[in-house]
Amino acid sequence: MKPTYLTRIPAAEAHIRATGERLTQPRVAMLATLMTADHAISHLDAVDALAKHHPMDRVTVYRVLEWLVTMGIAHRIAGDDRVWRFMLTAAKPNGKANAQHLQHAHFTCNDCGQTFCLDEVSPKLPVKVPAGFKTIDVDLKLRGQCAHCA
Ligand SMILES: [Zn+2]
Ligand SMILES: [Zn+2]
Repeated sequence: MKPTYLTRIPAAEAHIRATGERLTQPRVAMLATLMTADHAISHLDAVDALAKHHPMDRVTVYRVLEWLVTMGIAHRIAGDDRVWRFMLTAAKPNGKANAQHLQHAHFTCNDCGQTFCLDEVSPKLPVKVPAGFKTIDVDLKLRGQCAHCA
């Protein structure tokens, strides 16, 4: 069964508490929302999703999403439309969020346009680059049809 927003609240609270940062309602609500999403969601998707349970203004949503990214709890992916989409970063087996950005591939569906994390697929690092270049981030994206559209 797909987890619902309300069933994710305790886990979201525990996750934020574990960071040692302040536990606030917007942070909990946003994280619980990301925990229920099976694909990356945009800032506006988040505003819409939250409207049902915990309405927040756009600026707050934006700030909370940025905070989750800074904390390594979520990460963002640039879409073809240049809109950032946010996704929960898979926790390590010990339950701790990755301090380092977890490198993994993303899959964008040509039909529905949704982007998914492929946590099991990672680009081989370090990637060889010419002398003088320094890689900070690697963005690997696959395209095709997702399981819902294939
Ligand atoms: Zn699709
Ligand atoms: Zn991802």
